[in-house]
Amino acid sequence: MSFDPRSASPDPNYHRYVSHHANHALMLSAAIKEARASFANSGIPIGAVLVNSAGTIVGRGHNLRVQTGDPIAHGEMSCLRNAGRRRDYQSLTMYTTLAPCIMCTGALLLYKIPRVVVGESRTFPGELDLLRANGVEVNVLDAVECIELMREFIGTHPDVWNEDIGIPS
Ligand SMILES: [Zn+2]
Repeated sequence: MSFDPRSASPDPNYHRYVSHHANHALMLSAAIKEARASFANSGIPIGAVLVNSAGTIVGRGHNLRVQTGDPIAHGEMSCLRNAGRRRDYQSLTMYTTLAPCIMCTGALLLYKIPRVVVGESRTFPGELDLLRANGVEVNVLDAVECIELMREFIGTHPDVWNEDIGIPS
């Protein structure tokens, strides 16, 4: 029997695995770009993108509470708003730079978005357990860039951050 190099390839899911994770990094970087756009306008540096099953970004947004005075305009909410009315929520993935709060988690559950990829959950633990308990696939990337952005913001605007997550001053 001659050697067939194809049979020597490792895990058949290897390439799928690698492209899946490369995609995570690419999509998270798009969410970070949103977060940085907010930061550049003195806003809270949290951004999000919604991605369809083909890997295309169908909506993007960032926290606008400081910029517009809208208390509901968290990053994920702005992203959902910008994505408009949709019929494909159940095939979408939300990428967000920070673990979603209870309001954003509620919106994700309402529209039955099945996957959430989170930049980091150290600054704020969010409601990841609630998402998981409702069958949502949650992936936390623990991205240093997201942690640093929040650290920089909270260091200079602790009051604005507390207001964002409902902590009375
Ligand atoms: Zn939120």
